[in-house]
Amino acid sequence: MIRKTRSNISQNEQLLFEMSSPGKRGYQLPELDVPAVDAAGALGGENVRDEVTDFPEVSEVETIRHFSRLSTWNYGIDLGMFPLGSCTMKYNPRINEAVARIDGLAWAHPYQPESLSQGVMEIVAVLEGALCEIFGMDAVTLQPAAGAHGEFTGIMMVRSYFEAQGNARKVVLVPDSAHGTNPATAAMAGYQIRNIQSNSQGMVDVGALEASIDDSVAALMITNPNTVGVFEENIAQICAVMHSKGGQVYMDGANMNALVGIARPGDFGVDVMHSNLHKTFSTPHGGGGPGAGAVGVRSHLEPFLPAPRLRKNAEGAWSWDYDRPQSIGPVKAFYGNFGVIVRALAYILAHGGVGLKNATVDALLNANYIRKILEPYYEIAYPAPSMHECVFSDSRQAAKGVKTGDIAKRLIDYGFHPYTVSFPMIVHGALMIEPTETEPKHEIDLFCDALISISQEIDENPELVLKAPHLSRTPRVDEVLAARKPVVRWKKP
Ligand SMILES: *Cc1c(COP(=O)(O)O)cnc(C)c1O
Repeated sequence: MIRKTRSNISQNEQLLFEMSSPGKRGYQLPELDVPAVDAAGALGGENVRDEVTDFPEVSEVETIRHFSRLSTWNYGIDLGMFPLGSCTMKYNPRINEAVARIDGLAWAHPYQPESLSQGVMEIVAVLEGALCEIFGMDAVTLQPAAGAHGEFTGIMMVRSYFEAQGNARKVVLVPDSAHGTNPATAAMAGYQIRNIQSNSQGMVDVGALEASIDDSVAALMITNPNTVGVFEENIAQICAVMHSKGGQVYMDGANMNALVGIARPGDFGVDVMHSNLHKTFSTPHGGGGPGAGAVGVRSHLEPFLPAPRLRKNAEGAWSWDYDRPQSIGPVKAFYGNFGVIVRALAYILAHGGVGLKNATVDALLNANYIRKILEPYYEIAYPAPSMHECVFSDSRQAAKGVKTGDIAKRLIDYGFHPYTVSFPMIVHGALMIEPTETEPKHEIDLFCDALISISQEIDENPELVLKAPHLSRTPRVDEVLAARKPVVRWKKP
C-alpha cells in the first residue's frame, strides 16, 4: 500500500538570531549624497530610537533560504486533505484569488468617496442578494468578521428585537450537540444558557425542548447539521414550537455545504442565521486569517441589522445609509472583510446554482463513502444518516488502551493531517471526519486505508500507535506542558 510519507528529509534550521553575525546586511544602499539630517534635532530626541541590540544580522540569501526551508515544514490544503470535522477545510479554487487580486478591488479603500466605490458596493449588494436566495432569508449583512462574530451579531439583534417589545427575556436554549461557540455567544450577549439533551439519534429531543420553553426564553441556538453531523429532521416542528411561545430560532450554518442548493433555513422556519464565507463559500482559512460570518435575517429582524446598510438612491447609485435608528450599530470597522467577500462571490458565480448544489451532493457523498468504508473498523457514534461529516467513537480501540488522540498522531505517519479529536463532547472519544467536496476519491481512499491499517496495528502492536508519530520532524510533544508553560520567545542564552 502506498503511504504518503517517509522519514522526513526536510532540513534542520537555526533561528535567525542564531545565524546572525555582526555587520552582515541583507541590502546595499549607495553612499549618502545629500546633507545628513540630525534626526534627534528634527524629530525631538525622545522620538528617536537607539540602535536595536541583538537584532539578527543576516544576508539576503540566508533570509530567503531560512523562510523557504521553514515553509517546507508546513502542512497545508495545497499539500493534502484536512479531514477536520466542523471546520470545512476545503481546497480554494485559484480563480477566486485571481479575482480578489484585480487592481481596482485589491486597492479599493473604504475612505474613497461613494462615487468612486460604486463597483465594490455593487459586489457587496450582489453577494448579499445571492446569500438571501441561498439562505431563504430577507436580508443579509456581511459585516461580521467570523462565524462566532456573526452569532454575536445575530443574538444581539434578537435581544434588540425583544427590547423593542419591552422585554429582552433572559434565557437562550442550546442543545448539547451545538457548536461550542453557541453557548459562548449567548453568554456574551448577557443570556443565561439552558441545555437541551439530544435523543438517541443525536437530534434535539422535541419533548425536552417543549419542557424547557417558557416566556423567559428569547431564542434557541441550533447548529444544523449539528456537530454530530446529523440533520435535525424535526427542524420545522422545532421552529414551530419556538414560535408558538414567541421565541426566535437562531441557526448556526457555519458548515452550510451540507445544505446549499438543497434546503433553505428560511423555508424551514429559522429567523436568523449565519454562515461562514471562509468555510462554506470557499475562502482560505486557518491560522487566524480574515474571515466573514454573513448573517441572514427574516424581515422582522431587518431594522436591527448593523449599520450602515446599502441603499440605492433616486439616481440609481449606491450609498451607505447610516440613519438606522433601531440598528444594533456597527459590529466592525467599515463594511466587512472585503477580500473575503470578493472570493465568496467569485466562488458562487463560478459555480452557479447547479454547481453549488453539486458541491453539496459531493460533500455528502464523500462523508458517507468514508463512513461506509470505516464502519467495520470504527464504532459510528449515531445510526442517523450522516451529512457532510461523520463521527466515530474510539470505543473499540479504547478497549485495547488506544484512544482517539493516539490514532490521530499515528495518522501523521501516513501523511495526513489529523481529524478533529475528542469533539463533539457528547461523543466519548470522538473521531470527527469531514472530507469536504473537494477531495478526489484517490485521496479519500488513501485516508481510509490509513485508518484501517491503524486499526490493525492496534490489534497487533498497540505500542506502535501509542508512541506515534514516528516519521514526523517533531515526535510526540508533551501537550499539557506545551499548553501550560509555552516557550514562545527566544532569549539570548
Ligand atoms: C467554525 C464554526 C464556528 C465558528 O466560526 P469562526 O469563524 O471560527 O468564529 C461556529 N459554528 C460552527 C458549527 C463552526 O463549524
